[in-house]
Amino acid sequence: MDSNSNCRKQGAVVLVTSAEEVLTVVNIARDNRIQFVVSAERHSTGGASSVEGGIIIDLRKMRKVTVDPEAKTITAEGGCTWEDVDVEAAKYGLATVGGTVNHTGIGGLTLGGGFGWLSSKYGLTIDNLLSATMVLANGSIVIASSTENPDLFWAIRGCGASFGVAVDFTYRAYEQKDPVWAGLLGFTADKLQGIVKFANWHHGANTGDQCFLFGFSVPPPTNQPMTLCAVFFCGAQQAAEEYFAELTALGPVINQVGSMPYEKVNGMLNAAVNFGGRKTGGGSAVKLPLEPLFVQEVFDDFARFVGSHRGVGESLILFEIIPFKKIAEVPLEATAHGSRSEYYNVGSLFKWYEPELDATVRAFSRFVNQKIREQGGTMAERGVGAYSNYIEYQLNPEKIFGVNAEKLRQLKLKYDPENLFWRWHNVLLE
Ligand SMILES: Cc1cc2nc3c(=O)[nH]c(=O)nc-3n(C[C@H](O)[C@H](O)[C@H](O)COP(=O)(O)OP(=O)(O)OC[C@H]3O[C@@H](n4cnc5c(N)ncnc54)[C@H](O)[C@@H]3O)c2cc1C
Repeated sequence: MDSNSNCRKQGAVVLVTSAEEVLTVVNIARDNRIQFVVSAERHSTGGASSVEGGIIIDLRKMRKVTVDPEAKTITAEGGCTWEDVDVEAAKYGLATVGGTVNHTGIGGLTLGGGFGWLSSKYGLTIDNLLSATMVLANGSIVIASSTENPDLFWAIRGCGASFGVAVDFTYRAYEQKDPVWAGLLGFTADKLQGIVKFANWHHGANTGDQCFLFGFSVPPPTNQPMTLCAVFFCGAQQAAEEYFAELTALGPVINQVGSMPYEKVNGMLNAAVNFGGRKTGGGSAVKLPLEPLFVQEVFDDFARFVGSHRGVGESLILFEIIPFKKIAEVPLEATAHGSRSEYYNVGSLFKWYEPELDATVRAFSRFVNQKIREQGGTMAERGVGAYSNYIEYQLNPEKIFGVNAEKLRQLKLKYDPENLFWRWHNVLLE
């Protein structure tokens, strides 16, 4: 995803295989003042996992997953994808809270907070993180958990990439034996008002077992801006069909829903956000109920933009109506993550091919995310109203970590005073 890694000429890529090897590279880089970055699945689009002329600590060979079915825990090395975790956990009838796209790395996603289909039942990924093994800037390997280095554990749950290299994570797991009902639906532009109505209903009606994502894209072979929906029901088919009946009654032109094992669900959006091209991510948030005219305006902006620029149709803006009750019931100050409240994330991933469009696409991405943030009703919230893992550029730490920014600054001075880990995000930015 990080198209910068294709453009930047790295000095060296070190395919580490153990905590000790990570430590050796960190020590060499620090002692010789060589720039370095950690790279997992490289889904950040802002260049946080590539560096011109520097060293890449590439974790992709560290992909072992161990499940303890008695303790109901999953331990996964820092270079795993969510597919690695989902597939291994499923062998024991277990699952944890991963992202909605299974080719995403667990590293960046977990350290920034993490949410997915099971967040409505169990909260953020970090709310299910029990411990992590961290290689720190000073050349030590430590455990971060509620009992060992608890201040570090607080910091890595939301701002982890700024505190070291996570060589493994241990997550709490849950029984997930039965199939779930899920899939994609695509609707022509004229159905948008009905979809917004359904989203507003779902906001009040869900029991935590249902998630609903809707967004704008130009799925092949239609070549028309459409509304793409992803539905998820953790339960039996009949109940699921009843829950989503008002939506399916709108008459989707793409219909790929059905019962499937949980580990397949995280793959259903893969094709909509696949590899290649040039990319920029962005994020904002909305409170519900949504004002239908506001959503229509965002759709119209998107349709105009993709209609007037070549090769940008694989882009996506996604309203992620994943019930927030479990996320918001954890106090904002309990972890470093700055965006917990009674609102929903909106993510965007713009994709294009021609370098001449770089500035234009990035400007539109910022424009549309800012518009959603300003009109989406989250400006007065304590949570910052944007998910740090969706923000690709450096911002004032208060804008990303909110009330937790000052404590993070203090902990940085304890754990990484030379600010070796600054790319995602720079907590010491003035
Ligand atoms: C297609 C797509 C779908 C997404 N879906 C979701 C979703 O459903 N839910 C969600 O919460 N987020 C989602 N995201 C956002 C995602 O969380 C971020 O893009 C995240 O940075 C991806 O992590 P990565 O390890 O793949 O990326 P990388 O670019 O490799 O890493 C991102 C940052 O984290 C650092 N990092 C990575 N691993 C480690 C590690 N083990 N130790 C220390 N630092 C590390 C890197 O140095 C870099 O600075 C999605 C992003 C994309 C592009």
